[in-house]
Amino acid sequence: MTKQTLTQLEQHELFLTRHIGPDEQQQQDMLNFVGAESLEDLTAQTVPGAIRLKEELAVGNACGEAEGTAYIRGLADKNKVFKSYIGMGYYGTEVPNVIKRNVFENPGWYTAYTPYQPEIAQGRLEAILNFQQMSMDLTGLDLASASLLDEATAAAEAMALAKRVSKAKKANIFFVADDVFPQTLDVVKTRAECFGFEVVVGPASEAANYELFGALFQYTNRHGQITDYTELFAALKEKKAIVTVATDIMSLVLLKSPGEMGADVVFGSAQRFGVPMGYGGPHAAFFVARDAHKRSMPGRIIGVSKDTRGNSALRMAMQTREQHIRREKANSNICTAQILLANMASFYAVFHGAVGLKTIASRINRLTDILATGLKAKGVELVNNTWFDTISFKGLDVEAVKARAVAAELNLRYDEDGIVGVSLDETTLRSDISELFDVILGEGHSLDVEAIDADVLAGKVESIPADLIRKDAILTHPTFNRYQSETEMMRYIKRLENKDLALNHSMISLGSCTMKLNAAVEMNPVSWPEFANMHPFCPLDQAEGYTQLINELSDYLVNITGYDAVCIQPNSGAQGEYAGLLAIQKYHESRGEAHRDICLIPQSAHGTNPASAQLAGMKVVVTACDKQGNVDLEDLKAKAAELADNLSCIMITYPSTHGVYEESIREVCDIVHQHGGQVYLDGANMNAQVGLTSPGFIGADVSHLNLHKTFAIPHGGGGPGMGPIGIKKHLAPFVAGHTVIKPGRESDNNGAVSAAPYGSASILPISWMYIKLLGNQGLKKSTQMALLNANYVTKKLSAHYPVLFTGRNDRVAHECIIDLRPIKESSGVTEMDIAKRLNDYGFHAPTMSFPVAGTLMVEPTESESKVELDRFIEAMIAIRGEIAKVEAGEWPADNNPLCNAPHTMADIMDSEFDSRPYSREEAVFPCDAVKANKFWPTVNRIDDVYGDRNLMCSCVPLSDYE
Ligand SMILES: *Cc1c(COP(=O)(O)O)cnc(C)c1O
Repeated sequence: MTKQTLTQLEQHELFLTRHIGPDEQQQQDMLNFVGAESLEDLTAQTVPGAIRLKEELAVGNACGEAEGTAYIRGLADKNKVFKSYIGMGYYGTEVPNVIKRNVFENPGWYTAYTPYQPEIAQGRLEAILNFQQMSMDLTGLDLASASLLDEATAAAEAMALAKRVSKAKKANIFFVADDVFPQTLDVVKTRAECFGFEVVVGPASEAANYELFGALFQYTNRHGQITDYTELFAALKEKKAIVTVATDIMSLVLLKSPGEMGADVVFGSAQRFGVPMGYGGPHAAFFVARDAHKRSMPGRIIGVSKDTRGNSALRMAMQTREQHIRREKANSNICTAQILLANMASFYAVFHGAVGLKTIASRINRLTDILATGLKAKGVELVNNTWFDTISFKGLDVEAVKARAVAAELNLRYDEDGIVGVSLDETTLRSDISELFDVILGEGHSLDVEAIDADVLAGKVESIPADLIRKDAILTHPTFNRYQSETEMMRYIKRLENKDLALNHSMISLGSCTMKLNAAVEMNPVSWPEFANMHPFCPLDQAEGYTQLINELSDYLVNITGYDAVCIQPNSGAQGEYAGLLAIQKYHESRGEAHRDICLIPQSAHGTNPASAQLAGMKVVVTACDKQGNVDLEDLKAKAAELADNLSCIMITYPSTHGVYEESIREVCDIVHQHGGQVYLDGANMNAQVGLTSPGFIGADVSHLNLHKTFAIPHGGGGPGMGPIGIKKHLAPFVAGHTVIKPGRESDNNGAVSAAPYGSASILPISWMYIKLLGNQGLKKSTQMALLNANYVTKKLSAHYPVLFTGRNDRVAHECIIDLRPIKESSGVTEMDIAKRLNDYGFHAPTMSFPVAGTLMVEPTESESKVELDRFIEAMIAIRGEIAKVEAGEWPADNNPLCNAPHTMADIMDSEFDSRPYSREEAVFPCDAVKANKFWPTVNRIDDVYGDRNLMCSCVPLSDYE
């Protein structure tokens, strides 16, 4: 063996050799096959020279896993984890260890994608169905969504729903009670401004004085008060207003449900059901409405349908409401939501069950009773006379209290008006109550927790009014009553996990989704208490580690995108779009051009683009694409000129959703700028740009980045995500601010787009690690390898399937679209059949029918090895052979392995299988590689139409599973 230098030896130990799938030899073989001399040569053949960066990235050198971990450990150590009594929608919680280990830290759960292929996603679909059932039980309403991004954005969605369904058609007022959380009001106001709604804020009792289409209340309110709104809600309904209620999920275990009080929409955060605060997220919001409003629900809904064997099977229901189909007419722009966190919250409820939850909630309430009783005995004036877990009080020397609190390393809530608040949670112990007495009253108060408890037990305290105590049963479904032992729970989680295909089984080549490696080393810090247990509204001097991490990540992203600044608040790509478009609108407004409201969007755009434009109050004008899939420049020029007076911006994706680097991108930017518009470049395809070109360099003004695509945050089976936006200098003053946390920036006083100032902050360490570990060389090489893998797959497949679009030198960017329409024409085999047949081969289907109907879009990413790519290619070629048999009439068009796919164990155990024209082995072991690593879909093809016609979104009787 030839001796290597120390530097060479060190190079081999770098993380990038783990992140990138193919080794050096394989890379060379693949380059030979595609006809390029080197990665640089391939890049030069593929990416237009005019947009190639002249300089290398400047994010630092690549490093090893130990070095990166040591650095971020240093950042974590700078966070001071005080015990939090701040409340305001974020509470301490005990993540059950069985869930932490088997879900939160398990790639079988966190690396899955949104369940677009339900036959291989029944596990997480069941967990989400449990989430919906739990949401319905607790809120007292009958139709739940599969999670929204956070409580504050859920409030904005509730307002939008109210406008859609209210019969008070002329009303333009949305009333918000003045005792909701400030961040909720903030996000609602931002959204209302875009829609042109008037937000009236006032005491809840005055709501019925207005001509309104909807109203928002918080139960319990920000001070902890529990109010019976039954009469008020009835009065509002008389006026045809829609009543929406923000609520606390734990309190509902004990309290009369808002549904029973007459609310139409109820929502809130499910964070305290076993999801760490994480400095603001990610957490799932629940959102429940009356069944009558089902067509107007935002976000995804899981429903029960049947498969071809007549068995119950789960799927995403009523997808035609969503942005992919309805575009600017969609109910909301939500795409990525919070599925992993919704699953965690539902497992928390499954694990504790109704009895366990009642015990937890009762203990929280009891401790609060004791705290309140003790304080009152000492003459402290309480603001609220009813409570679940939160009390607020005034008349104390706030500075003295604060000083004692800091000394004891705990945070209370300090409102602007001299009110101090305390919210307890399931982590609070009786010793904490003694400590709180010391902190609030100073030492020497002589209060005794045990003695007060005896008084409370004797019924001397009534914190929950008798008629607001919950009387109906909750969580009666067997699922919530049979997994209370850890063994049973562990097996239930595993049973569901086994039904799902995630990245720990095989590649998921979903185009536009960038399903790359989510490395264990990147994931580790997310679980550390210094990142997990921080309250988003803790004083900034306790969050120095987070602040530094966010600043460093921002600097990295500024360098990578070529922009001047970054706003880390939007908690999904679609929210980034909304935030970026808002910045554009505010910018126009600042120049006296508020009338500019037209957003040009090419035909090929992702559905969230038009949906976000509509949210931002813009009018969408669609521009054409030419036969090569490029933006039709003539059409764009004509429309930009014609609409110049009112042109706000264009939204364009680069490389295009057609998977090519359009040569004309600079010209597109110029045309729009010439007519006074701004360029929003959808950054979902950054994986084809990093280190080679950048949106800022190309000439765009603002972009969102999907950190859960390009920057290694896992998809969680449908969320979480982060969608920070990069902006040019002139837009920087107009990005989202936050009403609670203001770190001293120009934009601090702007409205918020998320509940927390840094969105889902606790997953930012993943992207930080990704960049830190890969460094300048590794990031660029990853992009180049994404190109190589894509071009390798494309060239291999092109001998068997037509590739729809290619760019210069017949190259594709990081993904390719294969056209299945000719096959459908000649054989009747559909893209759906091929997608499902891939499941039999152990693969998730590529993106189906986006951006072109009748196609599959394949994005392999740099992380897939040549071995895995070859397996996928082999499967696709074998499937082409099967199609040929249908074309030749060897297999009937209505009875073949494609139209019958996917195949289940039930199929091959079925004695009637013999009547099929193909063997059991052909059905389930179609090639040798499958035998070694078989994935079994657990249901047969699911009937979408049946599911939507017979909508059922709650847990099915257990007999259906048996
Ligand atoms: C994924 C994607 C989005 C939306 O991002 P989410 O995080 O799912 O909201 C927008 N545009 C394109 C092109 C995408 O691929």
